[in-house]
Amino acid sequence: MNKYLEQLVLLSKIDQEIDSFEPKIETISKVLKDAENKILKIDIQLSDLDNEIKDTQQQKIQNNTHITEFSTKIKELSKKSTMVKTEKEANALKIEEDIAREQLDAANDEIVRLDKILDSKEAFKKELLDEKAKEVQQMESVKIDIQTQIQTIEKERMGVYDRKTQLIAEMNQRVLSFYEKIRKWAKNTAVVPVKKQACYGCFMKIYDKTHLSIIRGEEIVTCPHCGRILYKVQE
Ligand SMILES: [Zn+2]
Repeated sequence: MNKYLEQLVLLSKIDQEIDSFEPKIETISKVLKDAENKILKIDIQLSDLDNEIKDTQQQKIQNNTHITEFSTKIKELSKKSTMVKTEKEANALKIEEDIAREQLDAANDEIVRLDKILDSKEAFKKELLDEKAKEVQQMESVKIDIQTQIQTIEKERMGVYDRKTQLIAEMNQRVLSFYEKIRKWAKNTAVVPVKKQACYGCFMKIYDKTHLSIIRGEEIVTCPHCGRILYKVQE
């Protein structure tokens, strides 16, 4: 095979390899990103829950204030009732006292209800904190693993870059810029094999005459249909 063509085939393989690193790193990093997002979601839930707990506690404080008010009122009413002169007055006081007692009962019931809500919210909070601790622990172990994997890939990548630099230094500049021009639009398929007399870039059939010069491999031949650089592989 023509030396220039041989170098081009090698260069295109190196470029393909270089381009394959980024998606690999992305896939690996995604695992970590997913874990971080999971923890973030739990944090949002926890902060919402804390606000709800604060609100409920505030309601409880208000209710306790009401309970004090109602109790004071009931005491005052019973004091007054010892000093009534008429039955009418006594009845009026009795009605007022009954209402105050009903309000007091309702406020006490409300406290019971709010306590139940607080209990369930605190239990949920504990669940979330446990879940978060588990996720954090898992993420930490994943992190170390991922960092190791990325380091390995980076090392590989540096090795491939070195090979590319070395190869480019040996290459003819005109051949190289010809390749770069095709690579601009063909990306990783600038240099493609010919199999079953077809271009493996555009998959069109190659004419006999062109095919023969590709088999001979004495010069750089491009696909007459798409313009990619072609080379013959042993089938
Ligand atoms: Zn083609």
